[in-house]
Amino acid sequence: MDIEDQNLTKTLTLQLLFDDEESERKVFESTQESRSVYNDTIRLAKQGEDWDDIRRQMEQDANLVKNNTQLVVKKALEAMEDDDDDNMPSHTKTGPYPLRMNHTEGYTLSLTDEGDVAFRISPQPYHPVRGTVVGDPAHLDVLKTALSSDEWKIGTAEALFTDGRPELHVNVTHQTQTVRDKADSETVIGVDVNEDNIALTAIDETGVLDTLVIDFPEINSERHRYFTMRKRMQNAGKSSYKNVVRDREYRFVHDRLHKLSRAVVEFAKRFPDPCIALEDLKDMRGSIDYGTRMNRRLHAMPFRATQVFIAYKAAFEAIPIASVDAEYTSQGCALTACEHAERANRRRKRFNCKSCGHQDHADRNASVNVAKRGLEKCLLDVPALKNLPQVRKVRRWASGRVNRPTSSLVTV
Ligand SMILES: [Zn+2]
Repeated sequence: MDIEDQNLTKTLTLQLLFDDEESERKVFESTQESRSVYNDTIRLAKQGEDWDDIRRQMEQDANLVKNNTQLVVKKALEAMEDDDDDNMPSHTKTGPYPLRMNHTEGYTLSLTDEGDVAFRISPQPYHPVRGTVVGDPAHLDVLKTALSSDEWKIGTAEALFTDGRPELHVNVTHQTQTVRDKADSETVIGVDVNEDNIALTAIDETGVLDTLVIDFPEINSERHRYFTMRKRMQNAGKSSYKNVVRDREYRFVHDRLHKLSRAVVEFAKRFPDPCIALEDLKDMRGSIDYGTRMNRRLHAMPFRATQVFIAYKAAFEAIPIASVDAEYTSQGCALTACEHAERANRRRKRFNCKSCGHQDHADRNASVNVAKRGLEKCLLDVPALKNLPQVRKVRRWASGRVNRPTSSLVTV
């Protein structure tokens, strides 16, 4: 995902809770039927059959709703179109294949009086099954909004089984909302993502307005704990149990990333016409030596995912993203009169400029540099920075609770 991508189609990942086991079995069978349709389509196409004939034959033979068959055949023929000699689509894979469906034809979602989302899926003609959609609150929120507003369109969905669990992946598109052009911004929020915190600096043409550092020390320690658990089970040969742990770790990290990215967007919303500036990581791996700090940041889990989550949530709030050059953001002095960049300027969380002697919280300094580059991207003037306001710090606990920023004002 390109983080400046402002296409407002999102894929929501949700779980299916069937009314009864029989319904779940029917949907599972339809994903196996999908697999046959997919394989047969690829096999016939490889044999040189006319693609229109293949479409007709599949629609006739498959024990699926016609529309669903068409979508699976379409997917298979697209794979044939894209193929090259090294990467021919396979017609011999086994196991379920996602059942692809159009909204109101193959499946329907609706809000219940209790505020839940009910589904109706047609795994076979004339035999719809029912249940409730559950899952990640952030994705459910978007889905409920989409179902209750004319501005949203519910698109195609896939019913599939991930590690044996039934899931529904739904495409939703916001039809009228447009993300503001970043050139119409007034404030820029520079974001510096680290392995244990996120530093946010709001800047406009008059100067730095505020800096907030959100610490999340528990993410890495939790990940380490999960890693140790997985290793122990691997050694004990308990691979199924290991998957349970991996799944729990995924949910933990996913949940934290949602909360953190939400906090970033909430911070941005406090300022007039904000634009969020994120470092552009394209081509960064391998090409240039960014030093151990950057390498560590790149390999630390939250980095890329955090950026994607921020961009995703910002888009729904119509907030544009500016992607800025990441070079020397952590080593350069943020003061306008200096801007001296040298690796030795930074030691862990301390920034100490070797040229002008300016001292700062190192991640705040980096976030100011990101913010300044963001201003340029938004075609705004970069103010002359002579001094910077205090850094506010908050700590985000595993529960998602944030302690009050005002009680922990720190000077750097
Ligand atoms: Zn300096």
